[in-house]
Amino acid sequence: MSPPELERAVQERFPGCMQGRTLYAVPFSMGPLGSPLARVGLQLTDSPYVVASMRIMTRVAPPAQLPALARGDFVQCLHSVGRPLPLTEPLVSQWPCDPARTLIAHVPDQRRIISFGSGYGGNSLLGKKCFALRIASRLARDEGWLAEHMLILGVTDPAGTKRYVAAAFPSACGKTNLAMMTPALPGWRVECVGDDIAWMKFDAEGRLRAINPESGFFGVAPGTSHRTNPNAMATIRSNTIFTNVGQTSDGGVYWEGIDQAPPPGTTFTSWLGQPWKPGDPQPCAHPNSRFCAPAKQCPIMDPKWEDPEGVPIDAIIFGGRRPEGVPLVYEAFNWRHGVFVGSAMRSEATAAAEHTGRRLLHDPFAMRPFFGYNAGRYLAHWLAMGERGGARLPPIFHVNWFLRDAAGAFLWPGFGHNARVLAWICRRVAGEESARETPVGLVPKEGALDLGGLPGVSYGNLFAVGRPFWEREARELRGYFQEHFGEDLPREVMGELEALEQRLRKM
Ligand code: GDP
Ligand code: MN
Repeated sequence: MSPPELERAVQERFPGCMQGRTLYAVPFSMGPLGSPLARVGLQLTDSPYVVASMRIMTRVAPPAQLPALARGDFVQCLHSVGRPLPLTEPLVSQWPCDPARTLIAHVPDQRRIISFGSGYGGNSLLGKKCFALRIASRLARDEGWLAEHMLILGVTDPAGTKRYVAAAFPSACGKTNLAMMTPALPGWRVECVGDDIAWMKFDAEGRLRAINPESGFFGVAPGTSHRTNPNAMATIRSNTIFTNVGQTSDGGVYWEGIDQAPPPGTTFTSWLGQPWKPGDPQPCAHPNSRFCAPAKQCPIMDPKWEDPEGVPIDAIIFGGRRPEGVPLVYEAFNWRHGVFVGSAMRSEATAAAEHTGRRLLHDPFAMRPFFGYNAGRYLAHWLAMGERGGARLPPIFHVNWFLRDAAGAFLWPGFGHNARVLAWICRRVAGEESARETPVGLVPKEGALDLGGLPGVSYGNLFAVGRPFWEREARELRGYFQEHFGEDLPREVMGELEALEQRLRKM
């Protein structure tokens, strides 16, 4: 909306909106205090829930420890749940909020975030998506760095060589799971730097360095269990805020897929506060219910996760939910092709991600909801960063854990077995000739990706690149670029699409 319209919308909502509540001022750092990559914010809010959550997700510190505040060099974050006291209508499920008048606004030129009417998630913990992605992506473009929707992990091979990778997947596509993975390959180790956001910058030696600007995990609870993510389960044992989960009569929490039978005689209360029992048609926990826990409680945090200089990134991975056609992993031919691969990302939306039914949605760089400026210029910024990176540019990969067979079953076991893919990526980073060329990119040669001990998993199914599928994909992408980027699409990216079309014709 135009600035005058925004000003009107703010004036309609904010005067008197905190009446009867306490105003909290929360000074915080995104990134380790004093890191050259860190940034400071100040959030005003009338929600004690938000204050408690911000103390986990960001580094809240006294103003004296945040000199940027006094210099005026900070992001202004204004938040109200929009329900002055006394209430004129009863609360629904104890949540003060004003859904009909919710407004989440960003003013990048003024480094300002204005949020009204919502008390949950990224709408109210303003350091996360609003600051660390939307505002930061704009700062990053102005200043020559990258603010990305990426996890960061360290992976160590059996010989002890350690590499760091950053990976962008759309929401609900496995960032938190990959970042905390327990490898199913003997001798390999994965350590976590961050599970959602990466700020990255080339250092004086031309190495891409990344920090996790956050200090906590705000993870989806349903499906989290000792079997799927034991490290997350260990992380959330204490000092954790659970939101919209179910409760047990012995004081515990409960959700779908927790895989833990509570003691006999336990009774349940659903996230709506109603009595609930196993087998009820409605879930006990909301599908988007969350845990909010300090990162330092995760047993596999990387020793360098708070290093102010960041960790050196050896590979970048893009990915999404693609039930068919897109191989388990492929490598881009070069940086420019990698930028094209990122721009072409699509993913199947699931119920957990707010959409009903299954549809393939475009989500370039997993940033569609988070671009802080023109998306075409964002692609141009990535291309320009490639010029800056010089000889040490990390190679770019695309992964897809979500291939399905005709009956709808996953073709790939995923989770800890994704370490097999990381292992191949590490060998490519080390310069190993273990790839073969296809029109879409480089895939592992047969035998180069360890499929040992995985009965029923076939190389042919995982790495098929079909011409009709990819011709449809290219056509679809052309239409998307035209409609959503228009003349802002960098020439180089269109050139990569044309080159793909040409390679497909020669197939
Ligand atoms: P995030 O929102 O990107 O952090 O995604 P999460 O790590 O929270 O995972 C979202 C959903 O994807 C959960 O239901 C996970 O169980 C599921 N998931 C994560 N990794 C895999 C995988 O490798 N294979 C399959 N089939 N599902 C996965
Ligand atoms: Mn996550």
